[in-house]
Amino acid sequence: MMSDLENRLKYLRDTINRANYLYYVEDNPTLSDFEYDELFRELKKLEAEHPLFITPDSPTQRVGNKIQSTFEEVKHKYRLYSLDNTNNYEELRQWYERVKKECGQVDLVCELKIDGLAIALTYKKGLFVQGVTRGNGIYGENITENLKTVKAIPLKIFKDYDLEVRGEIYMPKTSFEKLNEENLMKGEKIFANPRNAASGSIRQLDPEVTAKRDLSIFVYTPILDGVENAPKTHYESLMMLKDLGFKVNPNIRKVADIEGAIDFIKEWEQKRFDLDYATDGIVIKVDSFAYQNELGFTARAPKWATAFKFPPEEVNTKLLAIETSNVGKTGAITPVAVLEPVLLAGSTVARASLHNFDEIKRLDVRVGDTVLIKKAAEIIPKVIKHVDTPEHDSLPIYEAPTVCPSCGTPLVVPEGEVNLYCPNTFGCPAQAKSRIEYWVSKEAMDIDFIGPNVIEQLYSKNMVKNPADLYKLSQQDFMLLDLVKEKSAYNMYTSIQNSKEKPLAKFITALSIRHVGKETADLLANHFQSLEALKNANVEEIAQIDGIGDKIANSIKDFFSQQYNIDMLENLNHLGVHPTHKVVVQSTVLNSKTFVLTGTLATMGRTEASDKIKQLGGKTSSSVTKKTDYVVVGENAGSKLTKAQELGITILSEDEFLKMLNTSE
Ligand code: NAD
Repeated sequence: MMSDLENRLKYLRDTINRANYLYYVEDNPTLSDFEYDELFRELKKLEAEHPLFITPDSPTQRVGNKIQSTFEEVKHKYRLYSLDNTNNYEELRQWYERVKKECGQVDLVCELKIDGLAIALTYKKGLFVQGVTRGNGIYGENITENLKTVKAIPLKIFKDYDLEVRGEIYMPKTSFEKLNEENLMKGEKIFANPRNAASGSIRQLDPEVTAKRDLSIFVYTPILDGVENAPKTHYESLMMLKDLGFKVNPNIRKVADIEGAIDFIKEWEQKRFDLDYATDGIVIKVDSFAYQNELGFTARAPKWATAFKFPPEEVNTKLLAIETSNVGKTGAITPVAVLEPVLLAGSTVARASLHNFDEIKRLDVRVGDTVLIKKAAEIIPKVIKHVDTPEHDSLPIYEAPTVCPSCGTPLVVPEGEVNLYCPNTFGCPAQAKSRIEYWVSKEAMDIDFIGPNVIEQLYSKNMVKNPADLYKLSQQDFMLLDLVKEKSAYNMYTSIQNSKEKPLAKFITALSIRHVGKETADLLANHFQSLEALKNANVEEIAQIDGIGDKIANSIKDFFSQQYNIDMLENLNHLGVHPTHKVVVQSTVLNSKTFVLTGTLATMGRTEASDKIKQLGGKTSSSVTKKTDYVVVGENAGSKLTKAQELGITILSEDEFLKMLNTSE
């Protein structure tokens, strides 16, 4: 009979080995990394307490998974190890104490831990000859042909060295989202995260498929046997790799002790979300190779390095309900997942986005399911998938609502769209309030002192049913609201009155026309220059504006064909709300040039900079593509700078940018 301990050990080994298979071979994990790491730590702890029970097949004794693929199996000349990891500072300090015991106080190098796929590249006389996945560390898969399609891997380096280097293949986050979107349309595999997408893409049987995927690499270790005058430290070796033409991550720091490393970790805990590649932690390595040799390895990891893992960005939890009471300003009903509260990326999460009802259907998410949720800093957590559990099949399939939760009007799905909408615009209380809230927001008419609570009261007292009604209110009217005294009444009234002559683009934005956000409103204002002209334009005329297609044009036409909206616009006009439009004299320098801003500018905020570009006839975009003309680089620029360098796009310092603005004005 097996004891409880043996049972638990067996359960942990089996679960982890199965997870390894799904993660490394299928690129389709069912456990979150956090859960996996927790199980792994428990197994390691139990084995340390009971070493007699360690079995040769224990995942603690090896790296990765058995090779099970159609690629040629290659034995690594030098073994590839994993890394030990922790998620608390105390354990990091304990690791450094162990290092200090052997070597005394030593310098450390901190690097970002890139969440991708480890590979080894071999160069002979400076030429790339072979690339192999880490596999189980002893054997890997020969994926040379696929790796040749990754542009950031040099086929020839600047010296004719015989050299092996290790690095991490990754897929930029933006490319990952694009790939999933395309795959969704084609009905192909959706990847759970950028790491799985990178792994699946680089291990394609047809290198042409790999070539179409946007993959890149960061190289982090050379094997220096046979290199003359080889560097003596890790930091110098990274510099050498850079000089040889490899892509080395720029965010590296040499520190004098573990406290320096902890400072580095704290710095990157949030900053990493600005990067266009996934990082799951910080790797800390002893800098001196001599000390590294002294410290050596365990069965699966070096003792001279460790990784700090950031709090999980992905975690499993239970879906308790799907809430559909939220009616947006355009009438869109957004389903929200109500979750069993769970710790995610450092905060407790109880709600997550499910996007739309098509997404719920695609994911086959059912109330009662265990779901994987994910957060990327500023972005609201979202449900990625349901986890395959035995209960899933017995749960009822989710049925989307058919009528508006606020006004009971049957919901519609506009042609070619996936969202469910309540078509009852201002007749729907929830939608009307959302529209008024948006009207007063910064992005729209920028009216201060009127928050959701005031709008709720104004609406329920029948004082305001649409934005035009706001301009009918006297100062006295506000005093009828709970807790509103003379001073706030004055502020509210004045703020509304002061908004009467806002720029046309802001006014168009404030109308909450479906698909018309700030950028589109800018285009419309610049093209039509008056509300009257926009109102009278036909679909063809609107659709032919660069950046606006049929979908947007139809939605605009639809808005202006509704009598309620026409009456409201007339009311606004009679009440003295007259949007203004300054004709922009197009500069010949910035005309139609596309700019991307990255990092922090010392002399102006990002909104100011992009307004200036637009005033001078240029355009701004949030991502760097081949179509970008200039990338303006401020302090702490991240991946956009790297991308610009890769694509050979003109990079402007802040000074150069300011000069360009000055000469164009
Ligand atoms: P790891 O990913 O935790 O750490 C080792 C790896 O880090 C190296 O092999 C290398 O590829 C990478 N790395 C990235 N940047 C680096 C840098 N600057 N320097 C050195 N190495 C760097 O370990 P692993 O053995 O590859 O995988 C184990 C981890 O994978 C687990 O901790 C877990 O997070 C995840 N995993 C998850 C599941 C699952 O079911 N969710 C299953 C298996 C593994």
